[in-house]
Formats: sequence, C-alpha cells, structure tokens
Amino acid sequence: MRHILFLFCSFLFLAAAQAQPFTLVKKHRSKCTIIIPEKANIVEIQAALVFQDYIERISDAKIPIETDMTGSKENEVLIGKVNRPMLDNVLWDKLGKDGFLIQNNGGNLTITGGTGKGVLYGVYTFLEKYLGCRKYSSAVTIVPKNKTIILPAINDLQLPAFTYREDFYLDAVDPEYADWHKLDSHGEHGNNTSEWGSWVHTFESLLSPKDYGETNPEYFSFYDGKRHAEMIPSWDGKSEQPEAQLCLTNPDVLEIVCQNLQMQIERKPDALYWSVSQNDNVRYCKCPACKELDKKHAAFTPGSKMYGTHVNSLYSPIGMGSLMTFINQVAARFPDKIISTLAYQYTRVPPKDIVPAKNVNIMLCNIESSRNTTIEQGDTSFSSDLEGWGKLTDNIIIWDYVIQFPHLFAPFPNLLTLQPNLQFFHKNRVSAMFEQGNREIGGEFAELRSYMIAKLLWNPDLDINQVMNDFLTGYYGKGGMEIKKYIELLHENNMAKSGIKLSIFGNPAQQKESFLSDSLITIYNQLFDRAEKSVEGSVDQLQRVKSARLPVYYAMLEIAKNEKTGKRGAFITDNNNHLKPNPEIVKMLYTFVYQCIRTNVTRVSEWHTPPKEYLANYLNFLEEGQAEK
Ligand SMILES: [Zn+2]
Repeated sequence: MRHILFLFCSFLFLAAAQAQPFTLVKKHRSKCTIIIPEKANIVEIQAALVFQDYIERISDAKIPIETDMTGSKENEVLIGKVNRPMLDNVLWDKLGKDGFLIQNNGGNLTITGGTGKGVLYGVYTFLEKYLGCRKYSSAVTIVPKNKTIILPAINDLQLPAFTYREDFYLDAVDPEYADWHKLDSHGEHGNNTSEWGSWVHTFESLLSPKDYGETNPEYFSFYDGKRHAEMIPSWDGKSEQPEAQLCLTNPDVLEIVCQNLQMQIERKPDALYWSVSQNDNVRYCKCPACKELDKKHAAFTPGSKMYGTHVNSLYSPIGMGSLMTFINQVAARFPDKIISTLAYQYTRVPPKDIVPAKNVNIMLCNIESSRNTTIEQGDTSFSSDLEGWGKLTDNIIIWDYVIQFPHLFAPFPNLLTLQPNLQFFHKNRVSAMFEQGNREIGGEFAELRSYMIAKLLWNPDLDINQVMNDFLTGYYGKGGMEIKKYIELLHENNMAKSGIKLSIFGNPAQQKESFLSDSLITIYNQLFDRAEKSVEGSVDQLQRVKSARLPVYYAMLEIAKNEKTGKRGAFITDNNNHLKPNPEIVKMLYTFVYQCIRTNVTRVSEWHTPPKEYLANYLNFLEEGQAEK
C-alpha cells in the first residue's frame, strides 16, 4: 500500500508540474525500449540487465534491450553513455566515479553515471526510490507488484558525500547488496576489484623482524635502553606479531620498505592505495633521531595529552613527526600511488610544521571514543585531532567502530549517533569511511545497522528516522513497531543518563543499572513477546524478530554470570542451602544458542567463541559454580 500511495503522490506532483508522464509498462506489457551504448562496458550491461530484470519482477513485462545503433524511437530508457542528443548536456566530470543522473523528461527516461559504477547505482536507486523496491539484507529483497508503471517527472542528480564507503559487515559484501547500496570493499572478503593494494598495519609485511630482527636490530624500535626486534605472541594467542615498530629515521629502513612496496605493487599494479602503516602496538621508536623529529613536529607539549585504549596502557600520542616525515619520503618515490598511513593511538594527533604530501592518505581511527553520545560531544580530544587533520588534508579515511567487539550480541545503543557522527566527519573534510561492524554472521541488529550505515555513507543528511522506520516495518513486519519502542527505550536509557561509558570493548554487565536494568529488561521482553506474537503468521519475519531478541537474552545471560546469585543471578539456592543453576537461565541459554545455530551465527565474540563453545563455556561456569558451594 505504501508503494502505491507513493506512486499516487508522485502522480499528483507530476500533474501539478504539468510534465509528461512516462509509461514504462501498461497492463503487464512493455511500452518502452532499453537503449545501451553499442560498445557498452560491463557496468552498463549489468545496469541494463538489472533494470530489465526488476521491471519484469514488478510487472511481468520484459523490456527489450537494444543498442544506440538503432534509430531513435519513442519511449526509450537510456542506460549509460548512450549516443542520444539528450545526453549532450550531461556534465560527466561532475559525476566523477560514482555519481549518477536519473531524468525523466516525458519522452525518455535517462539513467547514466560516472566512470565507476555510477550508472548501476543509478538503476538501483531508481528501483528503490521511484518503484518501491528494497534490499534489506543480502537475503531479503522486496519487489512490489504493479501491472502498470507510470513515472513522474524526475530530475535526480546524486553525488556521494564520501568517495569511499565501506560498511564492514559480512552481509554487506554480498555482490548485489554492495551494488544496491553503493558500497566499496578493501577486499578482505575476496573482492578483487578493490582499489586498496594493502590495508593496514603493514610495517610487518614491508620489513619484518623475522627477516631482519637478528641481523639488524637497529631497524626496529628503541626504548627502555635497547632495540626491540622480536616477534611476540599475538593478542589472540594464535599467531605472532612484531613486538614493536620500525626505526623510521634509519635510511636502510626507508630503502627496504620501498623495495618491498615496489614488489607488492608489481603484483597488483591496478591498485591505487597502498598502506605503509604502523603495526598494531604503541611501542614506537624513541631513539635520539626519531625522538628529535617527534618533538619537532609535536603539536603540543609531550606528556600533556594522554590516551588509553583496550590495551590498558596510557601513552603520549606524539609519534606522528617521525612517521609523517618517513611517509612523505615513501610517497615521493611512488607519485602515481596513494600512500595511506594510520593516525592511530600514538600517531593520532596531527603534527605541526609538516603536512602530508599530496598523495598521502591519512587513516584516522577513533578506537578510544565513547559511544554513548556523538563523537563531537563525547570525545573532544578526537574531535580536535580530526579538525586538525582536516586543516592539513582532505585525503582522510576515518576508521570508525560501531559495535561491541568482545560481545557481538550485546545491546549497543549507538544507532542515533551514526548520523551526527558521519555529518561531523563530512564537515571536517573526511573523504572516505570505513565503518567496522561485525565480520561474522549475526550480531546485534546487524542488518539494521548495516542498512542505516550504507544509507548514511551516501548521504549523511537524509531522514534517518524515516529510513529506520522503513526498515523496521519492511524487515520485521508488524513486529517492527514494537522493536522501534525497544530501540527508543535502549537509547533513552543509555549512558548519556547513567554516566557510564559505552565502550566498543565493554560488556553488558557494565550497563546492568542503566539501559540493561532489571525493570527495563522486563519491558524489553514484553515488547518482544508482543512482536513475536504479531508475526506468528510469517515464518521468515518471526525468525528475524527472534534474532533481534537475542541481545536481550545475551544481556540477561551475561548479567546472570556477573551477579551469580540474587534475582538476576545464574544460580538459585535450594532447600539445603546449596547453589544450583537457575533453570530459567539454563532454558534461556539453550534458546539463545539454538537460535544462533539455526541462523548460522558464526561467533558470539569477535575472533572467538562460536555459539556451541559459548554453550560449553556457560555450562562449565554453571558446573563449577555449583561445585564451589
Ligand atoms: Zn628510531
């Protein structure tokens, strides 16, 4: 009904504007022809086929595809850089790579775009915006049925707010989902077309302690009176990682890094972005030469500003002077490539009296930021760093974090900060975005958050409330409005009120008196009871509602573990004053794990804990707790 209403409203608008309507399909019969360039490229062909396919799915009408070698006829759908006079005035330069134009002048419908996937993005946008199609997840596509399709006047030119848009959810690498939502990928999930030759933490791949640690310890960080050139166990305990960083003022280091980078580039000559960036630790070189550069370019008094993250150590973020000097030297050797480096932890603060070279990209990370409120309000330290970088360059990619990584199912009320954060980044000349969500299948509101992020990456100023409502009703059916109430309650009661930081490395027990209080969880369960009941008739929607509920169960399970006894505890005391597992908790545990298995959830914690392991660990905890008494 909503879609019909939309077409009806559009028709009224059309009448008011006195434009010519354009009839694509009338009573299941095609009234037009798709025209593509005679030498159409792959994206143009794909765009035409997508257009043809969806119109057929909507109306049963198959629109023929011809090339622009045929003479012009009435009612043409021009897809791509077609040789027709109406495309003469298209400002191709303005469209860039991904921009597109959708135009209905009554006689023709034109969908064309920039040098990348613009025309394909134009077609998917047309299907969504003007015909009511939706792609809520890789598996859930909504195609309304209409026997007749009449278009209003359209003049829709769209350019992305960010030139690179990565929505790092596993589901978002699905090829159609990515094209539909205009998303990029750095290639971690097997996308070979990425512009990124290498991504992050690349010092190790460019100069490894394994190769040089013994022979040339002087290539590596100096601190505590000696060089640190070892490999140490990685934080996941399964692999090894360098103990520290490189000594960036050693001239041999520059030569070796450039030689190895050259070899990497030769293997992927088409890739534009190459990462030359610090390893994932804060142990940077403090040899006299490196220290001198860091001091020279430090934008504040060393020690006056301290950061701390999940590594639980405080460090003074003044390492960018030596790094920027080094990166500019590398960039000068590769003028046709863009050299990307991290501004992360100890290198996050922009340097003074040195600017990134033109072909340097700054990958700025806000791993420290609290998520209870917007970054601009809640992390003034990061905000001032971003504003500083924005004054030095517009080639900035933000590495942003949007979930609780050790607890992928933890309720994480940051949905309302997504928009203001992206608006803030955009305002400060950020050109590219990497939104790190869940690399696994499943997780709290994975589909919703991925969808909202995708929309905001294209246009951070859109009506996000409308997008969320559309998703909730489209994806969860009648359960959507109860879930909306749940989302509102979560957000109203998050730490903005309680004062407890919402951390990407936190856990549900930290919030047991705020948005996960006993009384609120009771209400959440009532809302989900109602939501489940309202979609009993739809197997698919019921499964989606049940998956949306998993975070409530997960929070209860984790709080039960934390409390041990009492109303919310994992144990009850029997008549003999012995502890035994709370049967309600055991039941919930099985429900949680079963729903995870049923929906192919791969992990409950990032890198760790498949659902069955969670079950085993929890049962073990219950067993041991019992034994304690
Ligand atoms: Zn050094």
